[in-house]
Amino acid sequence: MARYTGPKCRLCRAERAKLFLKGQRCTSAHCPMNNPSECGTPGKDPRARSRKATDYGTMLREKQKLKRLYGMLEKQFYLTFQDASRMAGKTGENLIRLLERRLDNVVFRLHFASSRAQASQLVNHGHIFVNGKRVDIPSYRVKVGDEISLSPKAQKMTLIKDNISEFSKNGTVPWLSLDIDAEKGKFNAVPLRSEVKELENINEQLVVELYSR
Ligand code: SF4
Repeated sequence: MARYTGPKCRLCRAERAKLFLKGQRCTSAHCPMNNPSECGTPGKDPRARSRKATDYGTMLREKQKLKRLYGMLEKQFYLTFQDASRMAGKTGENLIRLLERRLDNVVFRLHFASSRAQASQLVNHGHIFVNGKRVDIPSYRVKVGDEISLSPKAQKMTLIKDNISEFSKNGTVPWLSLDIDAEKGKFNAVPLRSEVKELENINEQLVVELYSR
């Protein structure tokens, strides 16, 4: 599956928001977005003053932000949107719930990886099992009750052990459970939109309006 391979910090600069695409580096002092001039803060960046946000531009930026957060390319993201629009209920909320069910996202949320990009790589390389079977498709949709575990090789990887010990101190999100000793997680429920705190600044309705034009 094609994916963006360019500089990740450039994506944050484009959205003028921290998208946390590089794991630990994003919470360190090395994040370029800690520097106000990098964030395109109006008044600091001369290019920002010259740009006038149109309605279309605002909707586009919101879609790009969401798409980039989950590490997806346009076609894949649009197909997920189409699936969301065919489901009962609000399309925007369905979209978020479908994005949260992606296997690479679940692996990231279980702290097996420090970023979604790293999670995607672990899945691609066959290090992730779902209900005891190897699944190497990052976009695989996890179902309620699915158990996510590591391959025997991955269980010995220092990188994964470090990720778990570094990031799992505060537990995981409410809809997942993580057994740290067994290095196993479970997808207990599809989250409600309100539970996905990481996206509280995202207005998914703008994405719906953009694709409905
Ligand atoms: Fe974005 Fe992380 Fe780069 Fe900071 S370090 S700009 S949050 S990808």
